This record gives sequence, C-alpha cells and structure tokens, in this order.
Amino acid sequence: MPSAEIITIGTELLLGETVDTNTRHIARTLRSLGVDLYRTITIGDNVERIAEAIRESLSRADIIITTGGLGPTIDDPTREAVARAIGVKTEFRPELWEQVQARIARYGRKPGENQKRQARIPQGAIAIENPVGTAPAFIVEKGNGCVISLPGVPREMETLLSRSVVPYLQKRYDLRDVIKVRVLHVSGIGEGTIDERIADLETLNNPTVGLAAHVGVVDVRIAAKAPSEAEADALIAPVETDIRARLGTAVFGADDDTLEGVALQAAARRGWRVVLLTSGLDDEVLANRLQAVNPGNLLLIKQSEPADADALMAEVHALRQKHQAHIGLGVKVTPAEGQTNLDIVFESDDTRIQRARTYGGHPKNALRWARHLTLNLLRLQANVEEI
Ligand code: AMP
Ligand code: MG
Repeated sequence: MPSAEIITIGTELLLGETVDTNTRHIARTLRSLGVDLYRTITIGDNVERIAEAIRESLSRADIIITTGGLGPTIDDPTREAVARAIGVKTEFRPELWEQVQARIARYGRKPGENQKRQARIPQGAIAIENPVGTAPAFIVEKGNGCVISLPGVPREMETLLSRSVVPYLQKRYDLRDVIKVRVLHVSGIGEGTIDERIADLETLNNPTVGLAAHVGVVDVRIAAKAPSEAEADALIAPVETDIRARLGTAVFGADDDTLEGVALQAAARRGWRVVLLTSGLDDEVLANRLQAVNPGNLLLIKQSEPADADALMAEVHALRQKHQAHIGLGVKVTPAEGQTNLDIVFESDDTRIQRARTYGGHPKNALRWARHLTLNLLRLQANVEEI
C-alpha cells in the first residue's frame, strides 16, 4: 500500500488569509483510493524551504502531492523547488507554451513574457494538461516515488486530481482497494461514555473505529478497506449494528444527517405544533427551519427573560396554552464565571421535563451546544412517544 504526504504551498495559507481546503479534498480522495496519508504540510512561497520539505517527504512516503505556486510570477516557486528537490533543472516545453498561449487567447488576452515560465517544468517530468486554467501541472517520478504538483485554485486542482492524478495513481500503484467511511452521529452522551462502551471496537483493524467530538454531538467513524464498495459495506455493517445496539437512541443519524434536520423532521412527522421560548439565545434559525420542514405547523418563537428554571417552565406553559401548541420548549442560557448554565424545559399534555446542565467549553460554542441539547430533547421525545 503506497503512502502519501500533501504539501500545500502559499504564504497566504500561513498568514491565515486563505483557508486550506485543498488538503481536505486531496485527503479524502487518497482515502477513497486506499492510499495511506502520513502527513500534511503547509509551507510559504519560498523555493528552498519547499525543496527541503519535498526531499523530506520523499524520504518517508511514496506519493507527494503539492498544490499552489504554479502561477506565472517570479514568486511562484513550485516548479523550481521540485526540480531542486530531485536534483534536476527545469526545462522549457514548447508544447506546454502552445497550450498556455491557446488558453490565454481564449480569454481574449495576449500572453505576457512572464507567462512563459508556466511552460517550464522539471526535466523529465510528465506534463498534465490543464483544461480549466493556464498553469500546466506535472508529475516527476523518482524510483517508486513521485511528486505531483497541482495548481492552488481549488476548482482547477480538483479537476486535475480526478481527471489525471487518480487514474495515474491507480495504474502506477495498482490500487484496487477502496476505503469507505460511515459516520454515526451521537447526541446526549459524552465522548467519554461512548469510549467506554465501544472501547474494544476502537482497536479493530478493518474496519477501524474512531471518535470525533464536536459541540453537543460526537461522531463515531467506521472506516473499511476492501477490494470493492460492496465488500467494504459488508465489513462496516455488523460493526455499525453493534455500535447502534450499544449506544441506543443516542445515535441520531449517519453521514449527512444533522441533529437539526433529524429533530425537526421527527417533530414534523408527529404533526406537532411547537412553541419555543428562548432566553439568552436568539433562535430565529430554528424557527425558520421548522417552518420549512413543517409549514403547516407554525413554530412560535418568543424571547423572554425568566428569572429561573421554574419561571421558564411557567412561561412555556402559558405560551403553549395561549397558542394551543402540542409542545412547549424553553431554553435559558446563562453565562457564569468560567462556564455557561443551561436550563431546558419540555412540556406536552402528558410530559414535563426540566433539565439543568453546565457547559465548561469555550463560550463561543455555548449557544450551539445549547441548541443541540434542546434539539436532542425534542428528537428523543418525538421518537419516544412514537413507540
Ligand atoms: P497559486 O496556484 O499558488 O497561485 O494559488 C492560486 C490561488 O488558489 C490562491 O490565491 C488561493 O486563493 C488558492 N489556493 C491556493 N492554495 C490553496 C489551498 N491549499 N486551499 C485553498 N485555496 C488555495
Ligand atoms: Mg500562490
């Protein structure tokens, strides 16, 4: 199984001006090909530092993919850096110059002399034609390894990756395995508890099982490697069933499901008219979404400042009566020293729930956390009563 490293190039990435989305895209592509990604590196527009990074990566991994630094200006360093890293010079390729000129002509412009630089690539490199931009990309092979240099513009990079690089890698490294990933989303129990319940599964080799904690939601990732998607699915299925059995109703969805979507759909399925009272939490978002999911049943939203949890319950009750709603939900978020306090109440004709929780994480995440806990309560109640 070949290994890979990704090197994204651009000073703007190091300055925090541009978010590096290329790494994520390439990482996922490599994952689906069954290539092991060892490291990702970001480096500025400096020829020597890039050359050094490439040399180091080549000493550890088979496939080095770089993005960025292929533009026409003097400070676009990647062509020269790759050449230095493997100990060759760059060479001018007339056929690439033709392509660059043709591309620029299509934009109705005349190529400048500096654009000629884009037709230089390291000696012996395999050129990758770029149908979506001007900068040609290239592959340099060295022993069993290779350096693949792609443009920085995400759309160009993605096109060249899928059209040229993926077929190249499949052929050169005889890649037949695929990696499939299934993500289960969990809410209502913490990462620690989940870890205790599925610890033995986290040591499996294929599929592997791993956790990623977010705000009020934990993801359990099941990843399998197999010669076909169907075989990967067959490896994942029993482990998924096992995890679902151990975590019960805390698993609210998989892959693209969101807690908001699942909770609001569950309420909509019940035909619930919901009133929501918030304090310290501006939640138009929630209201708009429920109306979108369930236009017949208005979600009334009111902001208020109840003194405590009992007052919150009383206000929710009154609001529910007034609007003849099936469900009253109340959320009160109170920042305190070093933590955020949360009261949630839920009321239906036959159920009254009052919960107090504290959040010790970063205050900027507290509202998302509060919203998630509230949605999770709504989801669980909608599902419980359905049984
Ligand atoms: P370059 O190929 O270095 O001229 O990059 C062209 C443009 O692509 C930059 O100005 C960035 O906006 C964008 N870009 C470069 N690298 C990345 C990256 N790793 N992730 C997302 N965008 C990038
Ligand atoms: Mg750049």
